[in-house]
Amino acid sequence: MAAATLALPSLSINATSKQPMNRTAKMKLSWTPYDLELKHTFTISGFSRNTTPVVLTRIEYDGLAGYGEASLPPYLGESQASVIEFLKKIDLSGFTDPTHLEEIMTYVDGIAIHNTAAKAAVDIALHDLAGKMIGAPWYRMYGLDKQDVPDTTFTIGIDSDEVVREKTREALGRFNILKVKVGGPDDKRMIEAIRSVTDLPLSVDANQGWKDRRQALDMIFWLKEKGVVMVEQPMPKMELDHIAWLTGESPLPIFADESVQRLTDVERLKGVFSGINVKLMKCTGMLEAWKMRNLARALGMKVMMGCMTETSCAISAASQLCAGMDFADLDGALLIGNDCFDGAKLENGKIIATDLPGIGVIPNRELHFARD
Ligand code: MG
Repeated sequence: MAAATLALPSLSINATSKQPMNRTAKMKLSWTPYDLELKHTFTISGFSRNTTPVVLTRIEYDGLAGYGEASLPPYLGESQASVIEFLKKIDLSGFTDPTHLEEIMTYVDGIAIHNTAAKAAVDIALHDLAGKMIGAPWYRMYGLDKQDVPDTTFTIGIDSDEVVREKTREALGRFNILKVKVGGPDDKRMIEAIRSVTDLPLSVDANQGWKDRRQALDMIFWLKEKGVVMVEQPMPKMELDHIAWLTGESPLPIFADESVQRLTDVERLKGVFSGINVKLMKCTGMLEAWKMRNLARALGMKVMMGCMTETSCAISAASQLCAGMDFADLDGALLIGNDCFDGAKLENGKIIATDLPGIGVIPNRELHFARD
């Protein structure tokens, strides 16, 4: 009897442990370029485009595979070629345990100064793999309720009144908040076109497009009257003194996007912006995004989760750490026609993670991962 009782703890540890048993297993990183086809031509202040290049990554280890993604909109300054060149430099053979995320990502980050999307592709695949080894989705390991996420915004680009009204109608019944790209000469016309269709709350993103702080403030007061609830990057990213003045005077919260890239940017933005927009492709992935979220909160700042045009791979990764944030802008996978992953889904206007371990994704077509 005593012997049986004593035996139980070690038996139960063996039965439930998801730790890697094969200490000689090696991580194998591979990748494949992929072009996202946008459902609509996308125009923001300064750019128009129909496709977005990405590089998908896979890290295999001991019979498991984790997936990641680098999304490469032109303004990030990375390309499929530069991502692949970076990935070729990575040698994971010295690491014995994929769950040692801090150690591995410190090495990856040290390979080059920039390449943040390429680093995110490695970080996301590692998180997916580690979560599968541990047997849990990341929102659970973060201690979050996956349902407690803000409504995702659905983005409407700068366009003719007719197209703006058509896109707004498309969003009705699916989304509870819309995001409008402003920063051009037609801001009021765009807002009025949307208001002719719906009275849903709006967020606006000027993408640095407003150049004069007093005109920007007048516009923000007008936007508030029109049911706008927040403003993203109103003025050029380096004009922190003007933005701090604007934030002080503004009746709406002002979020940094272009002005914030990584963890080290956050502290100097306290008192300049009301909050920060965290994006995996800017900040090298989930490990640093989680730190940025917590630092912003500790500094008394608001925080939102944003995205690029991405497949459900990177969107699902972002959805894992989105609960409890102030805003979510995770419509990236909904804007493309050839999403190659099944993962987080739109439910009642929110992007909700699956219950699968890791980042919660499964490829929905054959992808040819290789090391060249
Ligand atoms: Mg933005």
